[in-house]
This record gives sequence, structure tokens and C-alpha cells, in this order.
Amino acid sequence: MDGELVDWADAQVHVLSHTMHYGSGVFEGIRAYPTTQGPAIFRLRDHVRRLVQSAKILLLDVPFTEDELVGACRDVVRANDLSDGCYLRPIVFLGYGEMGLNPLPCPVNVAIAAWPWGTYLGDDGVANGVTAKISSWRRHDPNAVPTAAKSTGMYLNSSLAKVEAIKAGYDEAILLAPDGHVSECTGENLFVVRDGRLRTPPTSDSGALDGITQQTVETIVADMGLEVTHEPIIRTDLYTADEVFLTGTAAEVVPIRSVDDRAVGEGRPGPITKEIQETYFATVRGQVDRYKDWLDHVE
Ligand code: PMP
Repeated sequence: MDGELVDWADAQVHVLSHTMHYGSGVFEGIRAYPTTQGPAIFRLRDHVRRLVQSAKILLLDVPFTEDELVGACRDVVRANDLSDGCYLRPIVFLGYGEMGLNPLPCPVNVAIAAWPWGTYLGDDGVANGVTAKISSWRRHDPNAVPTAAKSTGMYLNSSLAKVEAIKAGYDEAILLAPDGHVSECTGENLFVVRDGRLRTPPTSDSGALDGITQQTVETIVADMGLEVTHEPIIRTDLYTADEVFLTGTAAEVVPIRSVDDRAVGEGRPGPITKEIQETYFATVRGQVDRYKDWLDHVE
């Protein structure tokens, strides 16, 4: 926290911190995986760059350089002896300065937490797929809330959609953009496969986050010799797709086996999704030579 290693129990903030009231923080979700050369943080620099860009969008002055943040992420993994891999959660937030909406008098604090965390949607979801429903909540208009920034406040929208889906008996929600096109899931990007071609919504106008796992998958797919494009997608495209899957650092690569009770394809993970999953899991563990530059070794 703010440049010091602090015990878990002591990592506390004041109840009147600005971010607690107004959602004014930015954060990242990063994973480290075990490799034959010790733990490696996957695409660490890309995550730190997105964190700093998110902060810029919110006019938060991060009091550390990108190199310092990269070093701090490595330090946290090392200090906690997380050699089997972990999830990292850096957050830049406004602490307690002066109560009121104006963020300018508040200090900018930075914390990085790390802990062992299994795959977000569960091992069964990874193996057999998850169920999803189209949410009644729309994604933000990028001119109402800046969707390019991974900000804490933006996740009220995701959280409402997630709860609605779970209470209705589904695993995950798919949000539509204000214009009705498919945007993304609550914490993951979405891909659609049809006739061997892959599509994912255009990040800029669908309000979806520019996902790092999404970019990784796009590279893997192109190297498989398949076509992948950013294109507007409508909800019925999901009903008639051969395969649908989601991507995110926490969730990794997860097949969607039904959307609004319509089975996707055969209602089980399809061959293209399975091949991408296999390559992704091997890549993050440093088992694919051509993608080794994405690994940031901690030891
Ligand atoms: N969309 C949202 C809303 C997210 O929270 C995340 C997770 N950061 C993603 C997409 C996937 O992004 P990434 O692959 O960079 O984790």
C-alpha cells in the first residue's frame, strides 16, 4: 500500500474515502501462473499500462511510474510466496481528504493485493460451459461513464447484471450496448463462432472493455489460421452461433453453452473454443515458445 508491504489485516482505508462513496477508483485484474522457471505474471506491462490509462481518463495522478508498479506487482507475488500462481488486484483510489464530490482535494492512494484464486466461473464452467442470459441492464454509454477506463464505479452496472442473472438461475449475464448491439459480459469479453469465423464486438462503440485476454485470443486465433473480426453482433447471432465463449483474466476462456435457454451449437463446448482454451492455458504457463514474451517472470 502506497509503496510499503502491509499485512493483509492492516490493509485498511478510512470510511470517508472518496472512492468508497463515488466510485472514483481504477483497478486491474492480473494473473500469475506457475511455470518451470517459477511464477510468471501474464502480460503484466499491458495491465499496468491499462491501469495508468484508466487513471488518466479519470484525471487521477498516479504517484508511481509504470516501472515502479510493475516492480511492486512482482514484489507482492514474491513476498507472499505465491509460486503456484495467484490473482493480483492493483487499485488506484482516492482516499480521505475532504468530504464532497470534488475529487481534487483527495490523496491518490495505490494498493496491490494478491491471493490464490481459482478460475472465476469455476472448473465445471471451463470444462462444460456456462449458461448466460441477456441482461435487462444496458452497458454504459461511453459518453455517460467512460467505459475505456476500468473504474470501480462502472462495476455497479456489472454487479446489477450479475445478480439478476444469478437470481434467474443463470451463470452469467450478457449486456447490450445502448444501441442494442451485444457489448460484453459482466467481467469478460465475448466471441461468436460461425462457419469457422470468429467475431467479437467493436470495443469503441459497444462500451466493452479493451480486454487483454481478448487481444491474446485474437492473436492465438489468427495464428490458428482463422479469421477474427470486430463487428457489431445482435442477440439472435448468439442464438444461432456454432460456438460462443467469453474471455477475461479472472474467468480465462470459458464456453457459453446456452444463451436465453437456447443451446449454443450442440449445447457443449465446440472444437474451436476447446482448441483456443488449450492454447491459452499452455501459453499462460509458458509452454508455447512463440508467446513466451507475454510472461513476466517473478524470480
Ligand atoms: N470486460 C470487463 C467489464 C471486465 O471487467 C474485464 C476484466 N478485466 C474484461 C472485459 C476482460 O478484460 P481482460 O481480458 O483484460 O481481463
